Amino acid sequence: MFELGVVFLLGLLWGSFANVVIYRWPRQESFVFGRSHCPHCKALVSWWQNIPVLSFLILGGKCRSCGQKISRRYPLVELLTGMIFLAIYWKYGMSWSTLEYFIFGFGLVTVSFIDLDHMLLPDIFTLPGIGIGLIGAYLNPERSFQNAWLGVLVGGGILWSVAVIYYALRKREGMGGGDIKLLAWIGAILGLSSIPVVLLFASLWGSFFGILMSLRSKDGAQTAIPFGPYLALGALFYLFFGEEVITWYFSHLLPP
Ligand SMILES: [Zn+2]
Repeated sequence: MFELGVVFLLGLLWGSFANVVIYRWPRQESFVFGRSHCPHCKALVSWWQNIPVLSFLILGGKCRSCGQKISRRYPLVELLTGMIFLAIYWKYGMSWSTLEYFIFGFGLVTVSFIDLDHMLLPDIFTLPGIGIGLIGAYLNPERSFQNAWLGVLVGGGILWSVAVIYYALRKREGMGGGDIKLLAWIGAILGLSSIPVVLLFASLWGSFFGILMSLRSKDGAQTAIPFGPYLALGALFYLFFGEEVITWYFSHLLPP
């Protein structure tokens, strides 16, 4: 029980750091140096106002200097990261894979929210992600290196082909280069077998919400939606339920 508490706390702290990166990266501010400040009145945030989730509750969701509302997304990102860390530890225990999945989970949260805000999946996260994922697969005896590089190749390759075909047919960009690199990153961590599950999951939910959003907006189906968060959700789904899905598939849908 104690170690679960420690893991959850660790997740909250990394979630807090994710908030900093999500906010500062697109504004080209350093996310290592410089104290946090209120985006509205620029008042510095003291340490006790910087405790994950708790400070938001103590402050009543408002800046202490100017009274401006603090976005509810900050504690949500912290809780989300905390829960992802907890679920990873719950499933994979004390192992090298758990350490790799912590980094991966933190990365997925960070790039998903940057993509939601700016329709952008920065290379500075996805490319090192692929590299670290491959090095991890090579060093970690619990993972297969071949499965990882095939995951990069097939994951990236499929979305790259989709992008090329879409461009040839519609003469405009439909699939961003960031999505291609994100799925390659997912392939590097979760392996080749994850790619069909992640893609199916992301496409189903992506088109479901895409249709929902286009019904609500007036200009119809032209509303651009970021695909990155759906790929990230698909990756988390595979991380926690992948084995079950594949076992179920082979026992029910394939002839014996
Ligand atoms: Zn303020």
